[in-house]
Amino acid sequence: MQKGLLFVVSGPSGCGKGTILNEVKKEIPFYYSVSATTRGMREGEVDGVNYHFLTKEEFEKMISEDGMLEYAKFCENYYGTPRKAVEDMRNLGTDALLEIEVLGASQVREKCPDAISIFIMPPSIKELERRLRKRATEEESVIQKRLAQAEHEIPCAINYDYIVINGELEKAIEDVKSIIRTEHLKAVDKQKIVSEVLEK
Ligand code: 5GP
Repeated sequence: MQKGLLFVVSGPSGCGKGTILNEVKKEIPFYYSVSATTRGMREGEVDGVNYHFLTKEEFEKMISEDGMLEYAKFCENYYGTPRKAVEDMRNLGTDALLEIEVLGASQVREKCPDAISIFIMPPSIKELERRLRKRATEEESVIQKRLAQAEHEIPCAINYDYIVINGELEKAIEDVKSIIRTEHLKAVDKQKIVSEVLEK
């Protein structure tokens, strides 16, 4: 069986990653990795669904047991990808998708050179700020921190395989779907296809 592909998606908070990926998933199934984090739960979030919400001690224990495929500190909290679920799903032939920040993404690129990385870009910093304020789930100081973080993250986009600009949501969704379809076409076992066609 062919191993599932590994997609890594990054982009500043508020760029619309979650919305885009939830729409893509309706049509193209993949395992949406559930990250672990030490940040507090936001309203509406569910433990084990949006994140595994851990204490700092629990998170550090997982790091020490090599249980994280990657991890990073972001806005003073730990975020990381539990390794086992991703590896198990890929071994079953299911694609895995990680929605992670830029430092974690560079760790994944190093450890898994076959990973396909996509950066979701806001059309401008001004628009990003407008979207963060509209979300209104956080205080002003947190919004300011996330904007500063965005200015640090955006230049990292050049290291990704693809940049998708989320100016118009429908177009961004189509762009991500096209990338996934293209990568599947690229990943076919060419030798197997040639042999099968010649045998028929
Ligand atoms: P938020 O607090 O808004 O849910 O996420 C903050 C940032 O952490 C986002 O950029 C998100 O992509 C990133 N993030 C979420 N899960 C992980 C993870 O498992 N590893 C890393 N490195 N970043 C993550």
